[in-house]
Amino acid sequence: MIVRHQDLFIDGQTVSREATAEVRSPWDGQLVGTYAVGTAEDATAAVTAAHRALADGLAPYRRAEVLGAAARIVGERAEEFAQLLLLEAGKPITAARGEVQRAITTLQLSADEARRLPGESVQMDAFPSGEGMLAFTVAEALGVVAAITPFNFPLNLVAHKIGPALAAGCPVVLKPSERTPLTAGLLVEVLAEAGLPAGWLNLVTGDPAQIVRAWQEDDRVAVVSFTGSAAVGWQIKAGSPHKHHILELGSNTAMVVDADADLDRAVAAAVASGYGFSGQACVSLQRLYVHEDVVEDVVAKLGAAVAALVVGDPADEKTVVGPLISEQATDRVAEWVQGAVGEGARVVAGGGRRDGVLEPTVVTDVRADSALLCSEVFGPVVSVVPVKDVAAALVAANDSRFGLNTAIFTNDLTNVLQYAKKAEAGSVLVNVAPAFRADHMPYRGVKESGHGREGVKYAVASLVAEKLVILAA
Ligand code: NAD
Repeated sequence: MIVRHQDLFIDGQTVSREATAEVRSPWDGQLVGTYAVGTAEDATAAVTAAHRALADGLAPYRRAEVLGAAARIVGERAEEFAQLLLLEAGKPITAARGEVQRAITTLQLSADEARRLPGESVQMDAFPSGEGMLAFTVAEALGVVAAITPFNFPLNLVAHKIGPALAAGCPVVLKPSERTPLTAGLLVEVLAEAGLPAGWLNLVTGDPAQIVRAWQEDDRVAVVSFTGSAAVGWQIKAGSPHKHHILELGSNTAMVVDADADLDRAVAAAVASGYGFSGQACVSLQRLYVHEDVVEDVVAKLGAAVAALVVGDPADEKTVVGPLISEQATDRVAEWVQGAVGEGARVVAGGGRRDGVLEPTVVTDVRADSALLCSEVFGPVVSVVPVKDVAAALVAANDSRFGLNTAIFTNDLTNVLQYAKKAEAGSVLVNVAPAFRADHMPYRGVKESGHGREGVKYAVASLVAEKLVILAA
């Protein structure tokens, strides 16, 4: 049963195209929907509309009203959004409902930020040259934002692109993941219903490289805001070096368990962060460094907790681990596990497939150069590595190309401080699960994990330029 067809949306109009593509459920392969395959010309027409909207302008109070109304409408249609997330992303329904609630928060936060754009008064008479002058800064939108989003949070990450951009006064051209264009399309529809004027939000689906290249080559696009894999993100940045970029990319998240940690709490955090949505979050736990004095205990507790997770049909409210986004992704992760086993790793829990779904898996004795430790797995696999102390854990955790979130579970203040200061990551979480993210907090990756910052208030700040105005009588 097709639940939705998604047309392009350009300059306030739905635009259909003869060429269409399918969206299939990652759980049972069922046809869920179709979307219009747009062209580079469509991508350019979207920029023309957005650029005109920028010239027309839209007062901050209107932007706030529209974003607030959109938050309310998403709330009213929450179950429809959750069902779409379930169908097109295979996201377990409980997690899907959670994502919808977060998207409502993201839109509401964006509405709030539209009413308090950054700016400051500058004390000109602090020096003789400025005597008699008054000065202040005014936030101006950077310009049209090209937003490119991944499959794993098809609603909230789209809201994180659209909300702050509109709050800042930047019109948007959006290209969601071709795996999950339906939820994004529904959100675009909601914003139009909320009263967003034509041109402020345009949706183009189709061949990603073609659409994004058209935006990169268009001087009227000021910002490329990308969330997705590191390989694609850095390639995009290299292809448009003169634009402003925000990149939110992947990682191979590390968490440390110290000898004195509350082990049950640490294991619960590891389970939530390693296996929620089958490990398909940028901050999913992948590398678990455990003090050698407690590693046996942790492996036993983790193995038991993981074996008890409900695996399978994402429509079941109890399911935690559903399908990966595609069969190729499932095969790749299974191959990585088999490869590690071939090199001497031991599977403590999982390792197989159930109804085509990769079981939540715990592995030990993994070689340091294994893909399971060095690359982003993006699947339900956690490798446990014993370490002699927190200093050694820190060296191992930092031995990565990536640096998004990292966590430590300990009650030793010296170790907390050491880890917080020296961990190479955008965020360090102490006694908090590494996959934790709240939508109002600043959020960024270091090293290959990103460039620039999100979190609604911080994204808005990075999408405006503060123009200085100096007054003298
Ligand atoms: P992806 O990089 O394959 O795709 C992301 C977007 O880029 C999609 O819209 C896709 O169509 C587009 N794209 C793909 N190839 C392109 C090309 N050659 N030119 C232009 N655009 C192209 O990522 P994905 O598989 O959808 O998502 C998973 C990745 O996203 C993981 O690496 C994950 O860690 C990362 N991610 C990061 C964050 C964060 O906040 N740091 C959040 C979610 C996901």
